[in-house]
Amino acid sequence: MLNVLSTLRWQDILDIAIVATVLYWLFLILKGTRALQMLVGLALLLLASLISKSAELYTVDWLVTSFWAQVVLVIVILFQPEIRRALAQIGQTPFSHTLTAREESSTLEEIIRAVVSMANKRTGAMIVLERETELKDIVEVGVALDAKLSKELLLSLFMPYSPLHDGAVIIKGDRLVAAGCFLPLTLNPEVSKMLGTRHRAALGVTEETDAVVIVVSEESGSISVIRGGKMTPELDATALRRILTTTFLREQGKHSAIVQRLKRLFPVRSK
Ligand code: ATP
Ligand code: MG
Repeated sequence: MLNVLSTLRWQDILDIAIVATVLYWLFLILKGTRALQMLVGLALLLLASLISKSAELYTVDWLVTSFWAQVVLVIVILFQPEIRRALAQIGQTPFSHTLTAREESSTLEEIIRAVVSMANKRTGAMIVLERETELKDIVEVGVALDAKLSKELLLSLFMPYSPLHDGAVIIKGDRLVAAGCFLPLTLNPEVSKMLGTRHRAALGVTEETDAVVIVVSEESGSISVIRGGKMTPELDATALRRILTTTFLREQGKHSAIVQRLKRLFPVRSK
């Protein structure tokens, strides 16, 4: 024991401290996710491999070793949603705002009025507002519309007997791009069992993209906003307006000066 202590260099302590901190942070990040369960599984396999080697259990060792040879492939398959999300974030295009502040706020106002009206009538609805991450994959599965957004259009799309009332509507700027879109459901095990598929779908898409989703519950008529995998429930018109304005108009304020300058330098006709 003393022997070990006497050969301990300060670098070793630093080494251990760094590894411990990294592992601790990793666990904090992964806590409650599927990834942690998988890491535990992989750690058990590693243990099995060490034990089978030292105990000279050749067949078990062969089995575990041949699994390890495929481990990269296994990780890619198991972590596919996480990898896809990371790649999607790399592909985000900055400066994609083409609406002026006034256009943006009148678009938001149309959405808010439609949402409040649907909440009062308990019409279920899900509206996805695209931001930096493109939602091409989701739009492709739905029904393409590319229409000028209006309160009336939203109301008629979500009418219970409308052929497009199922699924989500995707909005990009002031265009209603598609309706009847299917969104990926969240796989987060910590999500309340009380939430139905509509809310799970809203959580799912915001975990993978930076989109903002507004959900009107058919059951309770309540309005929620979902961003970054987090839900803000039970909103009234004022609270909804506050959230949407801070998300879309403030952000635009930040970019607009530089965007205006870029637009002057590179005049492009926006679609
Ligand atoms: P509500 O509070 O409105 O009942 P909920 O969260 O309880 O919502 P469900 O009752 O399961 O969810 O809602 C069903 C509706 O949600 C479906 O009719 C459909 O329109 C929509 N929906 C369900 N799953 C998805 C999905 N993956 N993508 C898009 N829309 C979906
Ligand atoms: Mg329900």
